[in-house]
Amino acid sequence: MTEEILPPLPELKSEPKERQAHPFRSLKELLDHVSGKDLPPVKFRDSGKAEVLPFPFSAIVGQKEMKLALILGLVNPNIGGILLIGPRGTAKTTAVRSLIDLLPMIERSTCHYGCLPSDIEEGGMDAVCPDCAKKYGEGESLTRPSRVRLIELPLNAKLENVVGGIDERAAMQSKIRLKRGILAQADRNLLYLDEANLLGDDVLDAILDAAAQGSYTLRRGAASATYKSRFLLVGSMNPEEGNLRPQIMDRFGLRVVVSGLENPKERLKAYKQVQDYFSAPHQMIAKYIDGTIAIRDELETTRERLKEVKISNNVAKKAIALIQELGIDSLRAEITWLEAGRAYAAASGRTNVTLADLYVVAPMSLRLRRSKFIAEYFAKQKGEEEELAELLKSFKRKSK
Ligand SMILES: [Zn+2]
Repeated sequence: MTEEILPPLPELKSEPKERQAHPFRSLKELLDHVSGKDLPPVKFRDSGKAEVLPFPFSAIVGQKEMKLALILGLVNPNIGGILLIGPRGTAKTTAVRSLIDLLPMIERSTCHYGCLPSDIEEGGMDAVCPDCAKKYGEGESLTRPSRVRLIELPLNAKLENVVGGIDERAAMQSKIRLKRGILAQADRNLLYLDEANLLGDDVLDAILDAAAQGSYTLRRGAASATYKSRFLLVGSMNPEEGNLRPQIMDRFGLRVVVSGLENPKERLKAYKQVQDYFSAPHQMIAKYIDGTIAIRDELETTRERLKEVKISNNVAKKAIALIQELGIDSLRAEITWLEAGRAYAAASGRTNVTLADLYVVAPMSLRLRRSKFIAEYFAKQKGEEEELAELLKSFKRKSK
């Protein structure tokens, strides 16, 4: 192998000294911080208390990799979702809820099925429901402006809640009508699965399929309907409470390992932040509000810039060589890694992806993708293939 390979993956270190004397004033500052280009801030614990006023994103202490992954997810949905892996009390849920303040305005469909003008532009009139096709033909708008929402899947969600089912009220009047589920409500929103590893396989499969396809079809008896389901998926899991099957794990783009804060100064800082928040939430949030608004605005321009961000064949080839060297089969590895690299370049104000960009986002894109089972399966299979080839050779000789 003559081609130069990427440097070894960076180690994730807990943060040393104090910083965060002032809140972040821009996305650039936050990004420099979470990608390790400056000195670090702090983290805090899940309180279990309903957080009506989200804790400010940039007030979360430490947990740089988690913050970076969430920001990249907001920039580029092609990353394919984020899985946060770690014990309880490591601010996973708090971090996800804190994104509420950073979510963008979008044009939201006014239709039950989630039809958008872009569906017609891409797929013609058949791509939307008859009502929307008519509206579009008459020059009526199919959308209204609305902020992206955070939808949290209830812990005890059943398949029927997730995909929808028969509308019972209509059924009482002997009418068959379908009721849409959480997946349809999550269209163009952020869907959060807390404790994804505790969900039923049927529920998780339905969510991951809908996320991958951007739509799903519900069939109940003679009735059927197709709903749009384009959402940013964020899951969390505590490995102490059971694992996710490897094929499920592979379907999350980024995988972040979230551990407790090691530095005692950080822990103290985190404790103080939480105390400030609980004793006077409005004042605490007000301290961060300018930075929050600046970051939200910059995310808007970053998403625009992403459309221009290119990755050269030379850089992509080096990334793929490393993936092959790691023995990762899943094509999702390069999709996630290169798309995360594009998002990082865009957030850094550039339109070309460098090896340095890929270096920063490599661990979260590539970890937990190697399958021991598949490696052993192929090794065993190779032996069988060779044996078969030998036998076929002699079979051919005999048949002459
Ligand atoms: Zn429609």
